[in-house]
This record gives sequence, C-alpha cells and structure tokens, in this order.
Amino acid sequence: MSVSYSSSLTQPRSLEQELKHFFGYDSFRPGQREIVEAALSQRDMLIVMPTGGGKSLCFQLPALLKPGLTVVVSPLIALMQDQVEALRDNGIGATFLNSTLSAMETRSREMAIMDGRIKLLYVAPERLLSQRFLPFLDQVEANLGISAFAIDEAHCVSEWGHDFRPEYRQILQVRDRYPNIPVMALTATATDRVRADITQQLALREPFIHVASFNRPNLYYEVRPKTKRSFTELLQIIEKIGGSGIIYCLSRKNVDELAFQLQQSGISALPYHAGLSDSDRASNQTRFIRDDVQIMVATVAFGMGINKPDVRFVVHYNLPRNLEGYYQEAGRAGRDGEPAQCTLFLSYGDRKTIEYLIEQKADPQEQRIATQQFRRVIDYAEATDCRRTIQLSYFGEQFPGNCNQCDNCRNQKPLEDWTIEAMKFLSAVARCKERFGMNHIINVLRGSKSEKILQYGHDKLSTYGIGKDKTADEWKMLGRSLLHQGFLDETTDGYSVLKLNAKSWEIMHRQRTVEIAISRKEDVQTVQRYSAAEGEILFNILRRLRKQIADEQFVPPYVVFPDSSLRAMAEQRPKTLNEFAKISGVGTRKRDKYGKQFIEAIQNYCEEQGLSKGVSNSANDGNLLSHTQLLTLQLYQQGLTVEVIAEMRDIRPATVVSHLAELIEMNQAIDINQLVDRDRQQSIIAAIEVVGDNSLTQIYQLLREKYSYDEIKLVRAWWRKNL
Ligand code: ADP
Ligand code: ZN
Repeated sequence: MSVSYSSSLTQPRSLEQELKHFFGYDSFRPGQREIVEAALSQRDMLIVMPTGGGKSLCFQLPALLKPGLTVVVSPLIALMQDQVEALRDNGIGATFLNSTLSAMETRSREMAIMDGRIKLLYVAPERLLSQRFLPFLDQVEANLGISAFAIDEAHCVSEWGHDFRPEYRQILQVRDRYPNIPVMALTATATDRVRADITQQLALREPFIHVASFNRPNLYYEVRPKTKRSFTELLQIIEKIGGSGIIYCLSRKNVDELAFQLQQSGISALPYHAGLSDSDRASNQTRFIRDDVQIMVATVAFGMGINKPDVRFVVHYNLPRNLEGYYQEAGRAGRDGEPAQCTLFLSYGDRKTIEYLIEQKADPQEQRIATQQFRRVIDYAEATDCRRTIQLSYFGEQFPGNCNQCDNCRNQKPLEDWTIEAMKFLSAVARCKERFGMNHIINVLRGSKSEKILQYGHDKLSTYGIGKDKTADEWKMLGRSLLHQGFLDETTDGYSVLKLNAKSWEIMHRQRTVEIAISRKEDVQTVQRYSAAEGEILFNILRRLRKQIADEQFVPPYVVFPDSSLRAMAEQRPKTLNEFAKISGVGTRKRDKYGKQFIEAIQNYCEEQGLSKGVSNSANDGNLLSHTQLLTLQLYQQGLTVEVIAEMRDIRPATVVSHLAELIEMNQAIDINQLVDRDRQQSIIAAIEVVGDNSLTQIYQLLREKYSYDEIKLVRAWWRKNL
C-alpha cells in the first residue's frame, strides 16, 4: 500500500483539506477542530462527547499528521476490528494486536509497524504490559517515536462508571514509562464523578478538556402508552422509518417472544440476549451490522461496542430502569447524524415488574438508589415537558425546551383538571372497601349489570353509575394517571387490588387537585422521511451496490460509505470522478476505489430514467439495458469468459458477473449452465429455498462458504427469473 502523508516538501494542507483527503468530510463537527489542534500541540486531553459525536476522528487525524505511531487502547475486540476496517478502507495504515491473532500474524503486523507502514495501532489494555509488548513499544519509541496514547472508552478506568475494567488501571504504568508522550482520554460518559476519576487515574497533566453538549439534535424522542395496539404501532414504525432498528426488551423471554412475533409478521428480526450461546450472539450481531437482518430485538446486553452508525430507530418496548441507561441505549440511533427516532413504550405492567425486582434487592441502600433512579424514568415518561430538557437536566445541562424534535413539543398535550372525576373514582374504591381492581371499579362507576357487580350488591352503592358520562377507556386513563402520580396504590400480589393512600384522602377532602395530560388518539407519527421520490429509488440502488461491495470485502456496509454519502450521491448524481470526490464522505482513496462503480450505477439509473441523454438500448421484457450491461452482453455473446471481459473492459470480474446476473433477470439469452455447474446450481437453489433470496451472505453461509458469491449471484438471478 502506498500512502502519502503530507510531507514538508509539498505545500502544507489546511486541516480542512487533510480532513477531506483522509476521511472525505467537508467540515469538522463541533469541537473536533479545536481538539485536533490541541492534540497537535502535544497536550494531554480529556474528551467527553456523546455517542456519535465523532470522537474517533479526534485522535485519528492527529495520528496521521504527526510523525510516529499512535497507540489506541480499546476495550473490545469487535470495536478494534471495526475501526481498523474503516480506516483501512480509507487507505490509512492501521492495525490491531490482540489475543485472537496467531504468533505469525502478530509478528507480521509488528514488522509492518517497524517499517513505518502503520500510523494507528489498536491494542487491548491487558496487552500493554505484557512481557512481549513493552520491549516492542520501546523499540517503536526509539526508532519511529510514539506520537500519542489514545484511551478510548476511558470511563472503563473508573469504578464509578458502568463498565469498570481493572486492566485499564495498568495504563498508568505505561504513562510512567513514557512520561513525555501525550495521553488522550475519550469517553461518552456523562457524569462528573467519572470524568474526575479518569483525570486522576490516568494522571492527565493539565489536560485540554472538552465536554461537548449531550444534546443529540438529530434524534426524535417520543413516549407512547403501551396498549393492545402497540405491536401494530411497532410494525408501523418499522415500516415507515425503514432501515436498521434496535428494539430493547426487559427480559430474555420478552426478547424471544417479540422476535418471534416480528418474524411471523414477515419482519427480518433476530434476538440478542445473554441466554444465547456466544456464537449465536456473535453471528446475530454480525448479521445486524452487515444489514443482513433489519431488526435486533435485545436486552440491554446488546449495545456496548456496537459501532453501527446507521441505526435509524431504537424502540424501548419495555421500560428501562434508569435514565442514563435510557439515554445511552436510545443514543445508539443516528450516530451518523442523520434523522433517527427513539420511542419508549410506557406500560404500567412493566412498572410493576421493575418495582418488584427492585424490592427483591437485599441491600437497602441499593434498593433506595434503584427506586430513585427508576422514579426519574417514570417522571420522564409521564412528563408533558420537552423530553430533551428532562434528559439533559439529568446530566446537569440546561436546555430551553421547544426542541420541536420530541412528541411533547410537537403536540403539546392539554392538561385538564380532573379533580371531580378523581374524587368519584377514589370514593368508588373506598365504597368497595379497597378489595377490587381497576376494572371492577370502572364497572361500578359506569353502572354495569355484570354478575360480579350484582353478586356483591355493588349496584346498591352510592357511587354506582355516577360515571356514565365517561368511557371505560377514559376512566382507565384517569386510574392509571392516579397510580402514576402516586395518588393511589395497587397491590403487587398479582391481584392488583386498588388501595387508597394519604394522598387519595387529600383529594377526596379537596386538599389536592388532580391534573392529567389528555392524550387523544393520534396517528403514528414518525420522523420526517425522505419522500419516496426519485432520490429514494436511486438511494436504494446505491444501498444495494454498497451491500454487494461490502459483502465481497467481508466488511459492514457503513465501512464502504455512510448513508449520508449515498443520499448526497442520489441527490447530486455525480457524472465524473471529480464530481464524485466532492461528495461528503468521499476521500481520495474512496474516490479511487469505488468512484467508478458508483458513478456507473448512477449513470445507469439516469439513463433508464431519461434523466440525462445517455445511450438508449434495445428494450427487452420491459427493462432497458444500460450501456455497460449491453457491452458486457455483446462480449459475452462473442464467447468470451468473465475474466477476459473484465480484462478488456477494465472492470472487476465481480462487476461482469453482476452484469450477467442482471441480464439473466432481464431475460437475456445467457446460459446459466455455461457459467455454473448443474450440480452446484442445485445446491444453491436448495439454499435459496431455505433462506430466501434477499441476502447473498445468508445463502453463502448456509452453503458453508463452499460456493462463491459469483456463483450464488448467477444462480439466484436464474432462480428469480424462472421460479
Ligand atoms: P463516537 O465514537 O463519538 O460515537 P464516531 O467517531 O464513531 O463517534 O463517529 C460517529 C459517526 O460520525 C461516524 O460514522 C463518523 O464517520 C462520522 N463523523 C465523524 N466526524 C465527522 C465529520 N467531521 N463529518 C461527517 N461525519 C463525521
Ligand atoms: Zn422537545
């Protein structure tokens, strides 16, 4: 690999130009530029940025601009691999060393480092102090220099954080060994205590501190009541928003059930929880990250270390236990800065379950904290204020409200005084001697003639029938609100008997008023979507191309390009490499590596749509052949092999195969038997009939990787056309 870093011989590039060259981005995100500048001046740093803020770039760009090697400490192997893949796809010399590598592989990577071909080395913390690694680091320092230590997920060093890792404490010894090398700590953890702990534990010296706002402006927050319709609403969310989504549930059982239900409804969804085997978990996660499956239904075990930037929605189908957890989990949506939605379903049943679980805690102190934390979740969910204001205030940040990006700001629910209704409700509870549940009380209020009412003589009560003016649903809304607001209690023995408390009596004595937020039935609202206009069709074509390229390289699609780049391509429809290079996310390397293929796909689309005057070709079966498909077809008809066609046209053999597959689907005379052995066709068809024809990877995996993607692609096309 030949990579050119800016050298003193050439005109120095501005930081913006470097950013564009290496990463393809046009501008820095808030804070990034200042951080990069501080890093270039060799300062220690503490960087606190929310998920998706763009922390990686803060150490990656300086690493490329400074002489020597930057050592990145990262807690999870999956995270390291992801980042290294993404860097390499930008043509940047990066590698990792961890326990998964053979001795030989390790040696060869060490050699690449000593040759100066690597600018960023990712390591696990425990490796830092190993017998083998320290002498190696000494050698690097002596020969090339170490430009910085970047400590990712630095909160792992703190016992006060949620992911304490004792190995992180060892980093301090490395700091002592190389006192002059700057240390940069990065985290998304929001609490002050952890921040202070990081500074102390890593012995940061007068660090440059950057604490970004925790506001995530691209996220739309909403809370919905959990009802019988919730599953339908969930399906609507999945369908309307599209793209990848995570659905969090409380328990393994909830996860399995919901995943099954979704699958039954034709949604591509997989479960993820601690009860699955390691290999199932890993494989489900990979399939999600690679877009082979749309939805991950998961417990909170899923998330840390998920770098997928294009998650378009996160749904909490059950209540979370604390607000910080909720913020972090919901925050896995929209890391790429594109619009994304966070929905929380509020269910009274969940609330009871969690309260019950908290009651089971042995340590009273722990119990108190858990109760308090859970109370904040309920406050958040029931609030009628701006959701952002509430979340950010939890992290000590002030937000003025009116964000217009949460349900409360978009449709402010009217508060109504329901004191009189509450008095009626509570006195019915009292008249029934606090021995019945909600439905029975409502039946009394509405004057029901059910057997149970008559059996207890409740039709004789003074409260019988005094609530006919309201529907059962309205009474239920009030009853729930009284419970939520703590104006009424309910037993947790499984019978949910309503019990009065001191506040109930205050209401009945008119010492307290009751206001409830009236939620009218609304249509399912979702984040603003791009209309299914032209751009959307092309966007989907480009997504498929991205997926195909990613599969061929065994990387997740977002490593090839983020959604925002594909959007920009679909809108701007670049025709030349120069135009292509202007798209945000297209750096020098990606221009050279992918430009041709994407431009080709865009041009094909334009020609088919008559968006630009292109070559119009003979029509067949209602489909127009593009110019490039036609060329391949003509060469193929002359009896040339895939390899020769690729050679002649200076395109990749895989592209020729894609053309042939498309031509087969368009009913062109291409004989599959000349391309794939009959026996092999049979096995592939059998596999398609098991897993469907959507995902090449799934077919490939089912066939135990014994058949090439090319073969599968061709047979799939034939299958689609003929069956
Ligand atoms: P964090 O580690 O803070 O969660 P990442 O470093 O993973 O965030 O960045 C989140 C996403 O934002 C990635 O997809 C990354 O490519 C993108 N990104 C980072 N900086 C920029 C920028 N200056 N312009 C556009 N996209 C950026
Ligand atoms: Zn708001």
